[in-house]
Amino acid sequence: MIIYNTKKEIREALAKCRAAGDQTGAVPTMGALHEGHLSLIETAKALTDRVVATIFVNPLQFGPNEDFDTYPRSVESDLARLEASGCDLVFMPDRAELFPPDFSTKISVAGVGEDHCAISRPQFFDGVATIVTKLLLVLSPDVAVFGEKDYQQLAVIRRLVRDLDIPTSIVGVPTVRQADGLAMSSRNQYLAAAERDAAPALFVTLTRAAEKLQLGHDWSIVQGWATARLIDAGFSSVDYINYVDASSLAHIDRANRPGRILAAAWIGKTRLIDNVPVKET
Ligand code: AMP
Repeated sequence: MIIYNTKKEIREALAKCRAAGDQTGAVPTMGALHEGHLSLIETAKALTDRVVATIFVNPLQFGPNEDFDTYPRSVESDLARLEASGCDLVFMPDRAELFPPDFSTKISVAGVGEDHCAISRPQFFDGVATIVTKLLLVLSPDVAVFGEKDYQQLAVIRRLVRDLDIPTSIVGVPTVRQADGLAMSSRNQYLAAAERDAAPALFVTLTRAAEKLQLGHDWSIVQGWATARLIDAGFSSVDYINYVDASSLAHIDRANRPGRILAAAWIGKTRLIDNVPVKET
């Protein structure tokens, strides 16, 4: 596995792979890698010949009062994990390599990039869309792999790639969970022991809510039930629990098409997100 810190070097390395006839797959991450990230690498390896992972904690997607400074950074163990997973190349630029001081361009995806998480994190999806666009332009991968754990983010990326005619196929990978259902996340490290015990209630509640919808219950009742259940389980507040069309992310209230329940909730000082599918009945 070879590590590159500059755009020039990674471009040259990937150009050589392509010249040799290899298909390339990219897995963008912010590091603090866990099994969820590794399943993206596994998918990229299954679909392509050469896999490049990126590690970059993207300042653009953090709000002024968010955890950019304290976001977990564990480069050595990340590189060991990537190597063990069979990743071929790593792109690990510093901030100045991607963002000159007068960087002033913003990619903003209307529609799927609004509502839900965008309400409490107004700059988040512009930050994600901008960095992902840059990474796709630097790497020019045939395939780029992202997690369904960040469902709205995946929808934003699919849309920007389609709208901007970026010639990369976007592949989504199902959420990898702990045995008790908690979605793996770099931010789970923030949870104190009692919070960690309560955290699986998010997935359990969303799963039950999906079952209730499939039994024909009214969404407004299910939404109220789910909110109360999370607070009972020890969550401090619920940002949102929304039932949406699985591709447009528009609000829906009946299981007459493929849907998704998206949620974000706070447990102490940690904001957790999760989502589950709701089958068409
Ligand atoms: P992050 O490092 O948190 O920005 O995530 C990098 C990529 O890993 C994104 O595509 C995430 O959706 C994906 N990811 C994060 N957690 C999981 C998980 N538990 N299962 C699958 N993919 C994940």
